[in-house]
Amino acid sequence: MQDHKTMTTSAGAPVGDNQNSLSAGPRGPVLLEDYQLIEKLAHQNRERIPERVVHAKGWGAHGTLTITHDISRYSKAKVFAKVGQQVPMLARFSTVAGELGAADAERDVRGFSLKFYTDEGNWDMVGNNTPVFFIRDPSKFPDFIHTQKRHPRTNLRSATAAWDYWSLSPESLHQVTILMSDRGLPTDVRHINGYGSHTYSLINADNERVWCKFHFKTVQGHKHFTDAEAAEIVGRSRESTQEDLYGAIENGDFPRWNFFIQVMTEDQARQAPFNPFDLTKVWPHGDYPLIEVGQIELNRNPANYFAEVEQAAFSPANKVPGIGFSPDKVLQGRLFSYPDAHRYRLGTHYEALPVNRPTCPVAHYHKDGPMRFFDNGEDNPDAYYEPNSFGGPKEDPSVVEPPLPLEGDAWRHNHRDGNDDYAQPRALFELMNSEQQGRLFGNIARHMQGVPSHIKERQLGHFEKCHPDYAAGVREAIARIGD
Ligand code: NDP
Repeated sequence: MQDHKTMTTSAGAPVGDNQNSLSAGPRGPVLLEDYQLIEKLAHQNRERIPERVVHAKGWGAHGTLTITHDISRYSKAKVFAKVGQQVPMLARFSTVAGELGAADAERDVRGFSLKFYTDEGNWDMVGNNTPVFFIRDPSKFPDFIHTQKRHPRTNLRSATAAWDYWSLSPESLHQVTILMSDRGLPTDVRHINGYGSHTYSLINADNERVWCKFHFKTVQGHKHFTDAEAAEIVGRSRESTQEDLYGAIENGDFPRWNFFIQVMTEDQARQAPFNPFDLTKVWPHGDYPLIEVGQIELNRNPANYFAEVEQAAFSPANKVPGIGFSPDKVLQGRLFSYPDAHRYRLGTHYEALPVNRPTCPVAHYHKDGPMRFFDNGEDNPDAYYEPNSFGGPKEDPSVVEPPLPLEGDAWRHNHRDGNDDYAQPRALFELMNSEQQGRLFGNIARHMQGVPSHIKERQLGHFEKCHPDYAAGVREAIARIGD
């Protein structure tokens, strides 16, 4: 017989009978005294935590970042210090709009979040499989997300809400074009690129800053479903991405991505013909070439999905010395909203959960709070405030960053000023071949079915400004597929 542990209550007392509740007579009723039954039922009621408002459906794995090229001229971050250096990491991929039980093979942006456990603390890269986003101001995010979620009355997703919002917000055209292109419906997450999307900064040992974009290019190549293929896949399995990622790693077929940066000096940023801090814009590769940094590999499936993926908490605010922020307004908004979401979803001490806990020493003055299950400063109880004379943790002035350059007054600057919302979507449209363009037209026309014609016309006006062939192609597809 196999050796087994004795079953216990959560307080550790042995359980004698886990199958029969304590009752007054064989037919019941059940007694309130049955604390074991009450513990079991009460615990089950508390098994669910709030799902993420966005990016609820996710897939994750552990892995390694290997540095293959020296970028120490740009960044003093120790994670980049030595070619050949390896850093453990966690990746979580996701769809944006679907709830926890949503089908995987849906047309949607894929979240692409990485947590690097470095010697200087956790560095999180909380990006997407797209280099841009739908909006360039954080004040727009809740409204935009409402259009992707369920209608308050029908409780259904609403294409009308999506196209109404997009057609009223031409800055979304670049991301809408990517979403409706082949890359909007990847077969799985091994076959997507990841992008930091925002502009960040790198700071070197001389405290000099360059602006920076992060890119992670799939070594597996890109693979996509057509809408028809995806419908067939979802009919067979709602978990196609989980099956693919988990299965590949179990089989030793470890997915990899090559890691690149683009850099821009502060001078170049002032001269650039577009706002380099605008999340709806890419930096053209021709002007800002990719610089190789390393490779990430995912090589270990989580042993406990809830503990290692659902409880994983990524935040763009998690950065290390040598990596900094930029004026990008949406990044600035996310610096607040991500940690706030985790405090609500996981609790005050979410960073102390095993999957989020840094591998380097942690020493702060945050006290008490719900579930303070880890060290509360008891090794040096007199040092419970700062500054103190009792040997408590001290700040390190050497990691203070140069300030972000400020341009202009504090004001609600009109986001449309000087912005061309059509040039970069045009460049994307022009790099698609005719088959890709044909699928783009069909995907849009199908997605627009049932949307009132005045909204379709408003959006066709944006396609027209982007490229006449874009508008003509969508118009023709609508006529073919039907309203
Ligand atoms: P490049 O020709 O140097 O780069 C084009 C990029 O487009 C490639 O990185 C390619 O990725 C990617 N791409 C190809 N098809 C699609 C698609 N359906 N959806 C999204 N991306 C796709 O040109 P530029 O750098 O001047 O950029 C031109 C346009 O390319 C941009 O306006 C933007 O829409 C798009 N793009 C640009 C990126 C950038 O950072 N500069 C990044 C991604 C897209 P891959 O190499 O993996 O095939």
